[in-house]
Amino acid sequence: MLISEIFYSLQGEGELTGVPSVFVRTSGCNLRCNWCDTPYASWNPEGEQFEVPEIVARVQTHGAAKHVVLTGGEPMIAPQIHELAFQLKEGGYHLTIETAATVPPRGIACDLASLSPKLAHSAPDARLDDIWRAKHEALRRQPAVIAEWIAWCADYQLKFVVSSEADVAEIETLLRETECAVPPHKILLMPEGTTLETLRARAAWLSELCKARGFRYAHRLHVELYGNKRGT
Ligand code: SF4
Repeated sequence: MLISEIFYSLQGEGELTGVPSVFVRTSGCNLRCNWCDTPYASWNPEGEQFEVPEIVARVQTHGAAKHVVLTGGEPMIAPQIHELAFQLKEGGYHLTIETAATVPPRGIACDLASLSPKLAHSAPDARLDDIWRAKHEALRRQPAVIAEWIAWCADYQLKFVVSSEADVAEIETLLRETECAVPPHKILLMPEGTTLETLRARAAWLSELCKARGFRYAHRLHVELYGNKRGT
């Protein structure tokens, strides 16, 4: 499978923020978010081919790590992702799968499903042709697939990238369409942005919005600690 990078860092987003984790980033994505912060794994997929045992061996070189994050790109379109998840679970790791929830779990091993459905503001601009833009729009929003993940995985979080207050109405509509009773603290709102200035400007109103609605505010620790750099 095509792997963009394998690295050891602190989880920067979500319920496990700060937990030392090995990140396995698959390369390739079925979406093209305009503001994608990992274009080397989506818009222009790069990487090297690895077999599952090689990936597991790389993960094991980080002896203190008990947590592994499968991320992308979109890890759920990577061939052998089910086998990789199974082997990592068998190895005793806590496994998070970070996915845009456009592909159902189909029995994948997982401890935390980190579901990040994409909102309307993710639509790609004129850099892409109409075919890709239509594909993005058709795939990005799949309430039934979100519901499958929630039903399947032992734990989950719904993580939304938010760029304006108007996004909340779209989030609430999508949640209703999942027909799942999602507690507000499982809904994480994360400011869109890859610089500290942008994150802090959006954090000012987003944190207040979370307090008003009961949602969880989600920062980006890795940007705070390291800046928007690969391998962090
Ligand atoms: S789903 Fe994630 S990896 Fe894929 S284009 Fe969107 S932000 Fe990038």
